[in-house]
Amino acid sequence: MKDILPCTVFFLLFNFSFPSPIQPGETPGEMKSIQIYLDKFFPTLHKSDSRSLVEKIKEMQKFFHLAETGKMDDETRRLMEQPRCGLPDLAEQRSATQIWARKALTYRINNYTPDLPNAKVDQIIPRAFKVWSDVTPLTFRRVYGPADIEIWFAYGAHGDNNPFDGRGGILAHAFYPGRGLGGDAHFDESERWSETNREINLFLVAAHEFGHSLGLEHSNVRGALMFPTYSYVNPATFRLPVDDTRRIQRLYGRRR
Ligand SMILES: [Zn+2]
Ligand SMILES: [Zn+2]
Repeated sequence: MKDILPCTVFFLLFNFSFPSPIQPGETPGEMKSIQIYLDKFFPTLHKSDSRSLVEKIKEMQKFFHLAETGKMDDETRRLMEQPRCGLPDLAEQRSATQIWARKALTYRINNYTPDLPNAKVDQIIPRAFKVWSDVTPLTFRRVYGPADIEIWFAYGAHGDNNPFDGRGGILAHAFYPGRGLGGDAHFDESERWSETNREINLFLVAAHEFGHSLGLEHSNVRGALMFPTYSYVNPATFRLPVDDTRRIQRLYGRRR
């Protein structure tokens, strides 16, 4: 007892003066939401992966350049609330980066969002492709039959085992190059799509998703187009950041 008491006092003091280092989230609901976020965006690479939740939170914080505290602090909480792309940040180890073997690619706009006039969508989508064709030998041609890159606006579950989550949260997702769903880009119709800085700007999200359609994974470089979270920049003066330009040219070469 004599020995235990000072320890207990120390523990109580320690606990009192610092947030607990053991419990990463404050409530069971918060713990659950961290777990869901990590499972989705930082999936376990191997079955034998035995990293603790704290380690995984640190990994996520490192990716986003946050303080690596291993727990839910305000900064981490704010990050998790940001609208973002539905693809993982630490991708499941793909055996090799998939790229298109052809340079001339096709796309089809299968449906429209009620948020914008169809004619606007018809302008925004090619502009988003032009971001990539400006710096590579790739070309994109609109077709009205089957295409390499099929574009859909969809609500909730839409047949690819990656249901959308309603307004906010996940905005869109796309598939890496390949047959079938490969290359396709899906936009969450629960968002309010815009051509301005109001709500979610369609051009910026489309340009990001088409990066995935071409084989790019997320970048942890702040300000890169392929950064996972949404942030507005003026589409009228948009220029593809150096990080994205380098990465896409590594896959396809420069524009001739
Ligand atoms: Zn993405
Ligand atoms: Zn989908």
